[in-house]
Amino acid sequence: MQIEQLSAWTDGSDQPFIIAGPCSAETEEQLFKTAKELKENGINVIRAGVWKPRTRPGTFEGIGEDALKWIQKIKKELDVKFAIEVANAQHVELALKYGIDILWIGARSTVNPFTVQEIADALKGHDVPVLVKNPLNPDLALWIGAMERLNQAGITKLGAIHRGFSTSKKTKFRNLPQWQMALELKRKYPEMPMICDPSHIAGKRDMIQELSQKAMDLVFDGLIIESHIDPENAWSDAAQQVTPTHLKEILEALVLRHTKS
Ligand code: PEP
Ligand code: MN
Repeated sequence: MQIEQLSAWTDGSDQPFIIAGPCSAETEEQLFKTAKELKENGINVIRAGVWKPRTRPGTFEGIGEDALKWIQKIKKELDVKFAIEVANAQHVELALKYGIDILWIGARSTVNPFTVQEIADALKGHDVPVLVKNPLNPDLALWIGAMERLNQAGITKLGAIHRGFSTSKKTKFRNLPQWQMALELKRKYPEMPMICDPSHIAGKRDMIQELSQKAMDLVFDGLIIESHIDPENAWSDAAQQVTPTHLKEILEALVLRHTKS
C-alpha cells in the first residue's frame, strides 16, 4: 500500500493526533457548544456521527444531511476540522459536498467488503483522509483488506482505528482490545497512522484515561475520543462520553514517553 505520513494531512506536530466530539450530532446547539468548548481546550478536529449504525431499530439513527449543514457553519465559525462516519456511497457524496475534512469507516462497515468497495468507488478521484475502524470481529486480514480497497481507489491519506472487538462474554470492556493485532498492523505497515478509540473499547468514561495512556505507551499516533457537552443526556453512547473539560484533564495527564520521528 502507498500510504502518506500522518504529518502530510495534519498540522505536522509531534504531539498525538486528537479527534474528539460527540458520538452523534444531535442538535445544532449541542454540536456548536461541544465544538466550541473543545476548540477552547485545544482540539482542532471534531468528530460527530451524522448517520448512526444502531443495533436495534427504533433508536436515534442520526440527523443526516441537516447535521452536515450545521457542521459547515460551525467549521467556518470556529475554524475547526470535522470527521464523520460514512457507510455508503451517498454518505460519501454528501460528506464531500459539505466539505467534511476526514471520513471514517465504522466497524460494522469494515466487516463488509461490498460496503467498503462501494465507499472506495465513491471516493475515486478524491483526496480526502479516510480512517478505517477495525471490523467487529478480530480479523486482521479483513481490516487490511478494507484499507487496500481504499488504497486501490487512490486514497493514500489512510489510517487505522483500533476500537476493540465485539464479544458475547461479559468483560470490563465494551469491545475487547487486541493490542497485539494493532501492533502487528503497525509492523506490516509502519507508515500507517494508528489511532486508538478508547471510548468504544471502554464503553464507560472512567476507563478512558487508562486506555488512552496504554495506547500512548504502545506508540499509537493518536486518539479519537467521544466528548459531549452533557454526556449524561447524550442520545447515543451516554455512558462513555466525557465533557470537554474532562477530556482536557485526560489529555493533560497523559505521559508521552516517545517522541515521533
Ligand atoms: C462511533 O464512532 O460512534 C461508532 C458507531 O463506532 P464503531 O463503528 O466503532 O462502533
Ligand atoms: Mn459512539
